[in-house]
Amino acid sequence: MTAGCLGGGQLGRMLALAGHTLGLRFVFWDNNPEAPAGELGRLMAGHYSDPEIMQRFASAVDVVTFEFENVPVETARFLEQRVPVLPPPASLEVAQERWREKSLFRKLDIPTPRCAAIDSRRDLTRSLERIGLPAVLKTRRFGYDGKGQITLRKKADARKAWDSLGGVPLILEKHVPFDRELSILAVRDRRGRAAFYPLIENHHREGILRLSLAPAPGLSPRLQTLAEDYAGRVLDALNYVGVLAIEFFEYKGKLLANEMAPRVHNSGHWTIEGAETSQFENHMRAIAGLPLGSSAALGHSAMLNLIGTLPETSEILGVPGAHLHIYGKRPGPKRKLGHITVTAATPQERDKTVAVLKSLLSKPAERP
Ligand code: AMP
Repeated sequence: MTAGCLGGGQLGRMLALAGHTLGLRFVFWDNNPEAPAGELGRLMAGHYSDPEIMQRFASAVDVVTFEFENVPVETARFLEQRVPVLPPPASLEVAQERWREKSLFRKLDIPTPRCAAIDSRRDLTRSLERIGLPAVLKTRRFGYDGKGQITLRKKADARKAWDSLGGVPLILEKHVPFDRELSILAVRDRRGRAAFYPLIENHHREGILRLSLAPAPGLSPRLQTLAEDYAGRVLDALNYVGVLAIEFFEYKGKLLANEMAPRVHNSGHWTIEGAETSQFENHMRAIAGLPLGSSAALGHSAMLNLIGTLPETSEILGVPGAHLHIYGKRPGPKRKLGHITVTAATPQERDKTVAVLKSLLSKPAERP
């Protein structure tokens, strides 16, 4: 079976690494001719709405998936007439627009921060009165890693925020003084059976994920059940196939849904070494019509993202319990170039190893 993947970044690359062991072949479509997944499959390089590539791609694959959520929906809809596109394109429509996303959560009785759609200066003034300060104003489309959002702390911030973001559809959310950020990865197969990974605790800096701990420290069965219940509702509502990630704020024992990603997710990279079946393998199993593997954690894991520069390989590999993944991308500021997974038998052992790695990573790079 040949799987087609829209996008050929690190997620596509890790999907291929997992899919190859199942005997799957890959065709990637990316607008970058140097896309890192190209080393693991055939790469068609060109714009995502190029009709000629669309035809060639559709004829070359048996099933289509994607590794980023800003795939043009029209492309997914076109391909769907020729081959199965999984997860379903409707999940792209939801994830590409924050108001739709929050509306779906609310329709399914999944709590979210208080929020309102903002289409005019007047909407902003009115909704600020209802929602209260502090609040976060975000663009409804194309926001990621903290881009396209501004926190409003006092009334006067509204004008500045409107001047810098206004003109496109926006959403205003109550700023949640959360206890921590968590995510759940869920996977559903073609027959509707689902599996859930344990909740993950995520730490961001400058809007970029830096560190994930899995299972989330002190995770209670109550919180895990709640997250599985919420994720299960989204999976079923979308008749979903593949891996889905939902990000939550934990606040006073509750889970408030912030956003979802209809794809494998950065907070799930630890599953390669830290779970019985990785998110990448389970995504490929699901879309290929194969049975899912167990999503159980094998111990206590951490994942550290490598952003901007790469450390010395031998130094990282010299740390017991550390596993290095390099994505084959050109270095650049704020670019995710790789990650390290730590696996350990206990949370204490994991935290010790994370501390060793953090000190290695904070050393200034040696100049030749
Ligand atoms: P997002 O692009 O929605 O994932 O937001 C990026 C980061 O901004 C999140 O991971 C949070 O740390 C923070 N953030 C976003 N929305 C809110 C909110 N309503 N309240 C508090 N923090 C938020």
